[in-house]
Amino acid sequence: MSPITTQRHGDILIVTSNNPPVNALGHAVREGLVKAIDEADADETVKAVVIVCEGNTFFAGADVSEFGTPKAFEPPMLPQVVDRIEACAKPVVAAIHGTALGGGLEVALACHYRVAVPSAKLGTPEVKLGIIPGAGGTQRLPRLVGVPKALEMVATGNPIGAKEAHGLGLVDRLIEGDLEQHAVAFAEEVRDVRPIPKSSERDDKLAEARANPALFDEFRKANAKKFRGFDAPEATIKAVQAAVAKPYAEGVLEERRLFMELMTGTQARAQQYFFFAERKASKIEGLPEDTKPRDIRRVGVIGAGTMGGGISMNFLSAGIPVTIVEMEQAALDRGTGIMRRNYEATASKGKMTADQVEGAMGLLNPTLDFDALADCDLIIEAVFENMDVKKDVFTRLDKIAKPGAILASNTSYLNIDEIAAVTSRPEDVLGLHFFSPANIMKLLEIVRGARTAPDVLVTAMQLAKKIRKVAVVAGVCYGFIGNRMLIPRQMQAMQLLLEGATPEQVDKVHVEFGMPMGPFQMADLAGVDIGWHRDPTRIENIRDKLCAMERWGQKKGAGFYDYDDKRRPSPSPVVAEVIEEFRQKVGVEKRDITDQEIMERTIYTMVNEGAKILEEGMAQRASDIDVVWVYGYGWPVYRGGPMFWADTVGLKEIVAGLERQQDRLGKDFTLSRLLTDKAAAGEKLTR
Ligand code: NAD
Repeated sequence: MSPITTQRHGDILIVTSNNPPVNALGHAVREGLVKAIDEADADETVKAVVIVCEGNTFFAGADVSEFGTPKAFEPPMLPQVVDRIEACAKPVVAAIHGTALGGGLEVALACHYRVAVPSAKLGTPEVKLGIIPGAGGTQRLPRLVGVPKALEMVATGNPIGAKEAHGLGLVDRLIEGDLEQHAVAFAEEVRDVRPIPKSSERDDKLAEARANPALFDEFRKANAKKFRGFDAPEATIKAVQAAVAKPYAEGVLEERRLFMELMTGTQARAQQYFFFAERKASKIEGLPEDTKPRDIRRVGVIGAGTMGGGISMNFLSAGIPVTIVEMEQAALDRGTGIMRRNYEATASKGKMTADQVEGAMGLLNPTLDFDALADCDLIIEAVFENMDVKKDVFTRLDKIAKPGAILASNTSYLNIDEIAAVTSRPEDVLGLHFFSPANIMKLLEIVRGARTAPDVLVTAMQLAKKIRKVAVVAGVCYGFIGNRMLIPRQMQAMQLLLEGATPEQVDKVHVEFGMPMGPFQMADLAGVDIGWHRDPTRIENIRDKLCAMERWGQKKGAGFYDYDDKRRPSPSPVVAEVIEEFRQKVGVEKRDITDQEIMERTIYTMVNEGAKILEEGMAQRASDIDVVWVYGYGWPVYRGGPMFWADTVGLKEIVAGLERQQDRLGKDFTLSRLLTDKAAAGEKLTR
């Protein structure tokens, strides 16, 4: 049965889509819409049409399950569908609830009128999948809302609410009450209005941009940082420029050309791959299907330092009460003070109300009394990174935590099984590795211990969603997925300094690749002293020396770079001297280092480590590793992630690059067997 049905209400033909879950614009829907409009035109007694959707939402976009299949290209394609709707000789009204996104908005734009419930959202998220609207969206939208707003919507992909859309003229009427009934009444009102308003024929709202074409470059400049490296935002700008500079029909052709160019490129493939990678990450392999999560009503956090505070905020923001425990009142006050200031900063940007700040802070119970954790359902330890301290904390926890409580460690590197072993309930123990700043970073590594119970894992995954994190399951190994892959990168970066590269050169290669910062910029931001042995007389390498000099990074105004009072970096002559000193000490000859060598030694080696993680089963799938890198370290999503990227470079080339560098990679470096096997077989890491 077609997902599109029609029924009469007096003179009005009501066209209803019923294609759960989101009324995606799959082939059957597209075909049904064309037939329905044909029916309206053929029947003299039909005076107007209403298009409405059942279920949770209006057409929420293209059918992602059709991506890459012949069905996606089977006529009628969406451009034909929307043109057919606009060409209807009777007024067509789109009745919008839920979300009208992507192709869904393009359908609505082609309708002659749009009515919506106030909670509806409208937008063009295509850019987030590396493409642009391809069914006239970039040409019709500016004609309805004006160029500045259209640019913002298509280039960022962020939706707007129906109320704003109404103010802009994108929605003709806001509907309170029954949407279909009111849409039909609206259709009755406009049934005889002639000429029928067609968005493709309007150009009054283009006048502003025609008078001021410089606004496009201003928009580019204002967003340069956000769009850096991405192809799709620039294509959306060009498409809207075409809407202004050319007649509608030519603009559509330009949109099509740009759309096809992106569709066949690597970025769109990477971004669409990543869309699915993120969804796959929440599936945990090897659990009984009927595993039920445990109930989490109160969370305990131990340690109110950098991580403990941020971790707590996630739960408070989701309405879950938190008991936070510290050793000393001063540390507790400092920690809760920072949390409050963070919330207040959010409120000052208008993203939270004063009441919400008080509401969140009101859910917090700060205490020095360890026993107060007794009624918590999940307790997350975020104390110093030291095995003895952690063991001590878990021994005490084991005595006071209620039966069935989940005991988690936020350790960055330490062995979860060893920590679990000091308790009488290793099945309740796991790692929950948040990333700093923990209230902002989206990634959570769920570390599955040898004995972690299935329902503990399921609970963690569900809770991650609730606090809006993207969680990935990792096995127990040093540094888990993300930090483990940083190790070879960091080692090679330091070695490159000795051989003749500068911190600036190494960082530049990473930034040009698309990373938000390079290894040395990252060290300066996080703290050069993290993990340092803290003995200023023990100087074995460049980092020891910088730490002994208190060059701990941005927080000290000096690290691998010098910083001015606005934290702007400049190359450091002091660091250059330190490097020179060690170069002579170690007896390494200085030479010119190419950018390609930096890539091979610091990025190819990461791919190699990722492949090892995969072959050891420490990650469930290659795409999980990519999710870790995009959400944990800012790997450019248009390159998919390190595993996907390696596949686009070709595994043979990655292996060849590593072999070229083998003599320089140090005696401990070994090639991943999985990587070399797959390279030899012409296979991919991401399949
Ligand atoms: P931190 O030094 O800022 O905070 C640790 C806090 O724990 C201190 O306030 C300390 O007073 C408190 N503490 C120590 N022992 C305690 C005890 N027995 N009872 C109660 N409180 C105690 O450290 P952090 O940066 O927040 O790191 C905490 C953990 O998180 C470490 O395991 C670290 O490896 C991990 N981690 C850190 C980061 C990061 O970027 N900082 C990122 C991910 C994970």
